[in-house]
Amino acid sequence: MAEESAIFRLEGVTKTYGGVTALRDVSLSVSGNEYISLLGPSGSGKSTLLRVIAGFETPDRGRVFFNGRDITNIPAHERGIGFVFQNFALFPHLTVYDNVAFGLANGEKQVSRDEIDRRVREAIGLVGLAGMEGRGVHQISGGQKQRVALARTLVMAPSLVLLDEPLGALDANLRNRMRNELRSIRETLGVTFLHVTGSETEALAMGDRVVVLDRGRIAQFAKPDDVYARPATPNVAHFLNRYNVFDGTLKDKIFSGPFGSLAVSATTPSDKPAYAVRYDRMQVEPDGSKGSGPAIPATFVASEYLGSSVMYFFETAEGKVIEVEHHLSLGAPKTYEPKSRYMLRWKPDDAIVFG
Ligand code: ADP
Repeated sequence: MAEESAIFRLEGVTKTYGGVTALRDVSLSVSGNEYISLLGPSGSGKSTLLRVIAGFETPDRGRVFFNGRDITNIPAHERGIGFVFQNFALFPHLTVYDNVAFGLANGEKQVSRDEIDRRVREAIGLVGLAGMEGRGVHQISGGQKQRVALARTLVMAPSLVLLDEPLGALDANLRNRMRNELRSIRETLGVTFLHVTGSETEALAMGDRVVVLDRGRIAQFAKPDDVYARPATPNVAHFLNRYNVFDGTLKDKIFSGPFGSLAVSATTPSDKPAYAVRYDRMQVEPDGSKGSGPAIPATFVASEYLGSSVMYFFETAEGKVIEVEHHLSLGAPKTYEPKSRYMLRWKPDDAIVFG
C-alpha cells in the first residue's frame, strides 16, 4: 500500500502565524531513498514545512506521519529525523570530533564509547573530513563547517534528513561541489533528503523530484524534467526563471496578450490565464521580419554570458523584459544593437498556455 511505503506523509497541514497563513492544507507523501528539493520564493512556506516535519512547529490542522506512525504531537527530539541548519549551528568551543559525537554521547540512548568512536569516524570520513577530527570548528572553512553540520546529523543514522538552505552560506564554486557531494552521500546511505532551496537551478539539479511551494500551497510535485518542461501554473513557470510569462486573457481558445491575439490548441488548466515561452525557444529576427508564427517587437537592452549560453535581454513597448537564451553549443553568440528594435519569434507549439 502506498501509505506504508511512504517515509513521511503530510495530511492537510495548515499552519498560521497570527494573521499569516504559512501553510494551507498541504498534503505530501514521499517514499524512502529519494532526494527531494523543496523550491519556492521567499515567504512561500518552505521553512515552515520543514519545521513542521521536524517537530519545531505544531500544525494548526492536519497530521504528520513518519515511517507509518502519527508523529504530529511527538516532540522533535523523539522523532529521529535529522536536521541540517543553514547557519550550521555548531558548538564553537568543541572540536570537529566532539561536535559530531555530541548527539550520540548526550542522547537518551546509551551508546558505548567504542560504538560512538566508530560511528563518529565513519561520519567524518563520509563527508570528507578524515584527518580533521582534532581541529576546533573555528579553525576550519565555511565549507568544512557545513560538512561537520552534515556529519553531526548523519551520525545519528536518521532515515530522513531535512536540510534548510544548506548551501546558502557557501560561495558559488563550493556550492557546486557540495551539490554533487550531497547527492552522492545520500545515495551511499540510501536515506531520504528533503532539501529547501530558493534557487531553481539547485532544486532542478539536485532533486530526484521537486516540490514547488507557492504561497503556502504545493503548486507542483514532479521530476525536475517535468517541472521544467511542463510547469503546472504560471507562477511555477515564473519561479523557474526559464520562461517569459505573458499576462492576458483566454476566451474561446483565443489568447490575447501583448503580442496580439493567437488561436491556441492545448491549454493547461489554471486560475489565471498566462502564456509562457521558454527563454531558449525564442528567436531574434530583424525588425519588421515577416516570418511565420507569433512574435513580439522588442528593443535590445543587454546581454550576459553564463558559460554555456548567453542571455539577451529585450524590452517590449509596455516595458516588459523578455529574456532570450542562446546555447553556445548551437553556434557563436550574436551581437545586437542596443536600443534597436528586433522581432522575437517563437513556434506556437513551444508555448504553454494557461487558462
Ligand atoms: P520561506 O522559508 O519559504 O521563506 P517561511 O516558511 O519562512 O517561508 O514563511 C512563510 C510565511 O510565514 C511568511 O509570510 C513568514 O513571514 C511567516 N512566518 C514564518 N515564521 C513565522 C513566525 N515565527 N512568526 C510569524 N510569521 C512567520
